[in-house]
Amino acid sequence: MAVEHLTPNQIHEVLNQIANAIICAEPELSEADRRLGDGDHGIGMKRGMEAALEQLRKSEEDAPLPEQFSTVGMAMMSSMGGASGVVFGSLFSAGKKALKEAPQELTPSAIADWLEGAAATVMKRGGAKPGDKTMLDALVPAAEKARECENDSCVLEALEKVAVAAETGRDDSEKLIATMGRAKTLGEKSIGHPDAGACSVAVILRTMADTAKKLAQ
Ligand code: ADP
Ligand code: MG
Repeated sequence: MAVEHLTPNQIHEVLNQIANAIICAEPELSEADRRLGDGDHGIGMKRGMEAALEQLRKSEEDAPLPEQFSTVGMAMMSSMGGASGVVFGSLFSAGKKALKEAPQELTPSAIADWLEGAAATVMKRGGAKPGDKTMLDALVPAAEKARECENDSCVLEALEKVAVAAETGRDDSEKLIATMGRAKTLGEKSIGHPDAGACSVAVILRTMADTAKKLAQ
């Protein structure tokens, strides 16, 4: 049966599961960053998500969606520091503005508004663009797929397609030459490995799709 939207209670659980998945993925995220950067991406993301879990525990399980996304984004930004704190904090905080029109229902079109808003904010704040071998190479294809799916009748199907787009973007980032951040100095040697931040985006959107599916059963 088509599930038209996710509720605030369901999103509370989805956000908790995203945090748990990122914490579990710490070794592989750090390994991805070790190949191209300084090897700390998993540690930073874990710290951010532990802070998010703590704030989610203190918040109402049925809090409006903009508040929940903002809680996670602010916790990440204030606990991680550095460029990736701003980048991944912005990914969630973008939901504050994008979801305010319908704060009780996460629909396919709201997901498109959120991911497009997140991609625009990350590009504005960090100065990177698609093709630079950053998390944007998973986030932008995911946002584009979400927009294609905005009229889907089932939010679970839309989330599944968005997760696949993020995973494909992560895999395709292997072929790119890094032009931003620490990996930039590697030049062509950066080919053959996915970007660590793109791996995180894939974990986040895959966990969102899988948790939503389980909750709807
Ligand atoms: P640091 O680069 O400070 O060690 P992390 O290792 O936690 O931070 O995160 C690195 C990831 O952050 C990269 O793999 C990339 O995806 C993402 N990132 C870094 N800078 C930017 C930027 N300006 N725009 C978008 N993403 C970025
Ligand atoms: Mg790093």
